[in-house]
Amino acid sequence: MKVKVGINGYGTIGKRAATAINQQDDMEVVGVTKTRPTYEAVTANELKLPLYVPSEEAIQDFTKAGIKVAGTIKELYKKCDIIIDCTPGDVAEGYKKEYSDAGIKGIFQGGEDHSLTGISFNAMANYKESWGAQFSRVVSCNTTGLIRTLYPLDKKFKVQNVFSTLIRRSADPNDSKKGPINAIEPSLKIPTHHGPDVQSIMPWLNIQTMAVKVPTTLMHLHTVMVKLGTQTTTEDVIALWKKTPRVRLVKGKSGIKSSAQIMDLARDLGRPRGDMYEIIVWEDGVKVVGDTLYYYQAVHQESDVIPEIVDCIRSMCKMEEDASRSMKKTDKAMGI
Ligand code: NAD
Repeated sequence: MKVKVGINGYGTIGKRAATAINQQDDMEVVGVTKTRPTYEAVTANELKLPLYVPSEEAIQDFTKAGIKVAGTIKELYKKCDIIIDCTPGDVAEGYKKEYSDAGIKGIFQGGEDHSLTGISFNAMANYKESWGAQFSRVVSCNTTGLIRTLYPLDKKFKVQNVFSTLIRRSADPNDSKKGPINAIEPSLKIPTHHGPDVQSIMPWLNIQTMAVKVPTTLMHLHTVMVKLGTQTTTEDVIALWKKTPRVRLVKGKSGIKSSAQIMDLARDLGRPRGDMYEIIVWEDGVKVVGDTLYYYQAVHQESDVIPEIVDCIRSMCKMEEDASRSMKKTDKAMGI
């Protein structure tokens, strides 16, 4: 029997989670929610995803707009084993009580604080911590990106200290309300929250971060400096990441000079929505000097967390005990 999954908030993350979950053979989406009758609600209808709304009044609004509704969110709760909360950051607290009262499990996203669930998730680093849990949180796109490259480094070369500057996209491509559109905006609260968020998964890691928002929508880019505890070479580090799941090495020399070509590569690979689930590391931008490793990586913010959400479902619903087997299954089904 497939695990039944509901998605609360059919936006950037919610719609991608729905696609990935329905690609798996052991879980299925039984419904998605929208609060307003927008184009995404119309798309849910076209993709035959049962659509649920907050209230009886909302059913009337959606019906008037010509959108088919399956019921209210309370009815969705009755149909699912687990709900993926993909609502915008900071609205999930109220929902957590609703999920709890309905007796279902819930996965929250990186816009929420670790304290909401007390457990945060990354498949490679701490799959087991969410085993059987009622609530967990898949960390943000940036945190997922840092953990994907730092966790294997730490295991092999004993990381002493990390410093990273996050060059952040200002908005997602479909968000024309946010900016800046012609400015560079530093995060003035230093160090930024990204380091502590990595520590919600790797509490022992000594990491400091700064962040700058720039006028782009495609991807985030990180510059990372790592002090290593054991001696190694540039080649050894590259060899390690070549074997690491959900990390993809590219070369500037072969024409991938920026986030623009990475997104073109994702489209060429035929990925749904042109998504790039892997963290991209420039092979010719990796360098070990003395005990310090320097590298650049790019994060497709809209999609890198999606395979993690699938694995988190498997851990919380006790569907597969072994993290690497779950990751392989997820990645195969998603074409990663
Ligand atoms: P989004 O704005 O694209 O989508 C949010 C969805 O929730 C929309 O469908 C909206 O209609 C719906 N919604 C709004 N208010 C609601 C409410 N009160 N109740 C139920 N539904 C409501 O947001 P997103 O980018 O998908 O972000 C969702 C979560 O994922 C956030 O925690 C965010 O921080 C996190 N996240 C976002 C990204 C990203 O880059 N977009 C990456 C990783 C994690």
